[in-house]
Amino acid sequence: MQNASQRRYRYIGSWHTHPFGRARPSRSDIAAVRAISREPQVLLRRPLLMILATRPSRRTYRERNVRMFMWNPDLSALIAVDLQAVREDERQYPVLAVDWDTVVA
Ligand SMILES: [Zn+2]
Repeated sequence: MQNASQRRYRYIGSWHTHPFGRARPSRSDIAAVRAISREPQVLLRRPLLMILATRPSRRTYRERNVRMFMWNPDLSALIAVDLQAVREDERQYPVLAVDWDTVVA
C-alpha cells in the first residue's frame, strides 16, 4: 500500500467488532497490538486499534459504541484516544486516485 500510494498512505492500525461485547481491548487485542508495535518491518511504535461493539438483532447489526485506542510503548498499554471525524470541506489533503483492488491484493 505504501508504494501504490507514493508512500503517503501506510498501515496505522486495525479495527474489528466485539459482538455482544464492550468496546474495550481484550487480552488478545493487547497482545496483538504489542506484537505489531515491536515488529521491525512495520515501523509503527504506536499502532491504533478501533473497536466497534455491536449487538446483533434479527434484522441488522446495530452499532452500540465505537472507541479508538493507541499503543503507548512506554506504558506497554493501549490508551483510549479521542476519535474525530473530519468534514469533507475541512480536509487538508486531496484524495489520491488509488486502485484499492490492486493495493489490497
Ligand atoms: Zn477485540
